[in-house]
Amino acid sequence: MSKSLEGHAILVTGASGGIGAAIVERLAAEGARPIIHYGRDREGAEALLARVGGHGWIVQADLSTEQGPFGLWRGAVAAAGRVHGLVNNAGIRTEISVEASPEDWKAAWQKEFQINFFAAADLSKEAIVHFKAHGGGRIVSIASRAGQRGYAAEAMPYGASKAALINLTKSIARSFGAEGVTAVAIAPGWVRTDMAEDFIAAHGKAAAVADIPIGEMASPSEVAELVAFVLRPSQASLNGATLDVNGGSYIR
Ligand code: NAD
Repeated sequence: MSKSLEGHAILVTGASGGIGAAIVERLAAEGARPIIHYGRDREGAEALLARVGGHGWIVQADLSTEQGPFGLWRGAVAAAGRVHGLVNNAGIRTEISVEASPEDWKAAWQKEFQINFFAAADLSKEAIVHFKAHGGGRIVSIASRAGQRGYAAEAMPYGASKAALINLTKSIARSFGAEGVTAVAIAPGWVRTDMAEDFIAAHGKAAAVADIPIGEMASPSEVAELVAFVLRPSQASLNGATLDVNGGSYIR
């Protein structure tokens, strides 16, 4: 029996990070050829490509710049030719207080939205045009529980940028499904990666897991397994869904 993602070229942004690397490994295990995007960690991206047997590509881009996402899409198409899927995974979580100066406050909101939302919107735009011309494709965006239930005082830009990502997913699902382009958002609570470690270092583990009924953060592989499942061609009807991966800490 052939693997569920056999021959599919799938761009994963922020692929050298905790969740991104797990997604790449899982996609490769299911037969996909990952397009590994990285911002700064070239060595990490090369090691990841080696771990999946060299069956994929590496593309660099700084998503904090206006042209970065467009350059990334061009690089992905130049490498793979036909691209079948896009995983908007790259993201940052900045802490900024309402007591901050207006300059620092503006800079934090702008950077958060550029990387977490505008880059994903730009990549989705390019992907939709490509998918429409080549028989379809799927966009999976890693949002967050923070975008569903509102977020902490010290990181409001993060929650707002993730809420925007969920809304973008719904618009794509409603607008382009008829042309074979489908979109799904995944909304994890805390996942054990550097992003979570930074939070734990500042606030302690108890603060992270206190409101999670199962008492634990998700593992990157749990999220990766779900991403691979969502990308299966057989899962077209998930179009527009937001899938919660939060241990029961936000039930709607
Ligand atoms: P991570 O910090 O390990 O990885 C983030 C990735 O984004 C890295 O590969 C990094 O290089 C990339 N990135 C950041 N800024 C970039 C830039 N300017 N240009 C290019 N790439 C850039 O974090 P993670 O936990 O693996 O997060 C992956 C995604 O999952 C993020 O969107 C995050 O918001 C989301 N998420 C994480 C958690 C969690 O608890 N870890 C929970 C919910 C959602």
